[in-house]
Amino acid sequence: MTDTTQTLDDRPTMPAIWKGWRRKCPNCGTGPLLKGYLKVRDTCQVCREELHHQRADDGPAYLTILIVGHIMAPALLVVFTTWRPEPLILFTIFAVGCIGLSLYLLPRLKGVVVAIQWARKMNGFGNKAG
Ligand SMILES: [Zn+2]
Repeated sequence: MTDTTQTLDDRPTMPAIWKGWRRKCPNCGTGPLLKGYLKVRDTCQVCREELHHQRADDGPAYLTILIVGHIMAPALLVVFTTWRPEPLILFTIFAVGCIGLSLYLLPRLKGVVVAIQWARKMNGFGNKAG
């Protein structure tokens, strides 16, 4: 196979998304994708894949709000109508739940967004020269 017949499928999307969810490099799946909580590394420590092309921007935050909102809003309604807890107890449980779930999802969804961009060769990920 020559370079001219090479298609987008040399980077399968679903395995890359799974590696991103585990916060690993979408190329090798072993090197850590993130430095600290949310900062994406410039290059993979293991396979030297360039990761600085990523443009996740507000995507992970948007997805986090979308998912947390769709889980917590119906749960709030069910808990309120079923048990009618004290307002302070209800607030405390759902504040901790929302913050905890958001902190869990945000870096994983950032890994997913970066992995999708890597797999689809967006933002210069496919350029061998750059
Ligand atoms: Zn790697």
